[in-house]
Amino acid sequence: MPRAFASSVSLSENSLKSVPAQRPTREEALDAVRTLLRWAGDDPTREGLLGTPDRVVRSYEEFFSGYGEDPVALLQRTFEETDGYDEIVALRDIRFESHCEHHIAPIIGKVHVAYLPKKRVVGISKLARLVEVYAKRLQIQEKMTAQIANTLDEVLQPKGVAVVIEAAHQCMTTRGVHKPGVTMVTSRMLGAFRDDPLSRREVLAMIGTPGGAKLDNV
Ligand SMILES: [Zn+2]
Repeated sequence: MPRAFASSVSLSENSLKSVPAQRPTREEALDAVRTLLRWAGDDPTREGLLGTPDRVVRSYEEFFSGYGEDPVALLQRTFEETDGYDEIVALRDIRFESHCEHHIAPIIGKVHVAYLPKKRVVGISKLARLVEVYAKRLQIQEKMTAQIANTLDEVLQPKGVAVVIEAAHQCMTTRGVHKPGVTMVTSRMLGAFRDDPLSRREVLAMIGTPGGAKLDNV
């Protein structure tokens, strides 16, 4: 086995489990788009489609930029000087755009994140960036909800974490059963928000009752 291949395998095993060991070249990606255009019934050599493979590949770089980022490292810089603040920190209505891993169709929605600090807090822009890292990957909503909650729990080690996601799935609205206006709500509660009914009620009051909020702007 060539040495370069062996080292890329060990890299993927150690730290980049979700990234394939051998990434195709950009030219292979462009060819794949041309193949799909032909599969759709069109001619990738006609003028209007000549630049399309390049645009699609560049869109993919943006849609899936989250594979190149480490969500734990992102949250590493936390602050301990909170003057004893020990109440809920919540960030509501973090808009996100992701893609479902079954159809590569857009998932568009909002994430509400809350935690109950023990000692450490993190800058609120970091919470939004954390959502972004997981959204910019192929996803299912349940997995994304758990990933955001588990990463916050692991890095901040707070007393509680709550993550609620409401989203519309275009694989359901523009194809398949064609049901527009349907949103899916998922939640993951950890620590006090899972075990203590009072804390749970308090956090749900802050971030909105799941299903009660509207997705007017997505
Ligand atoms: Zn789907």
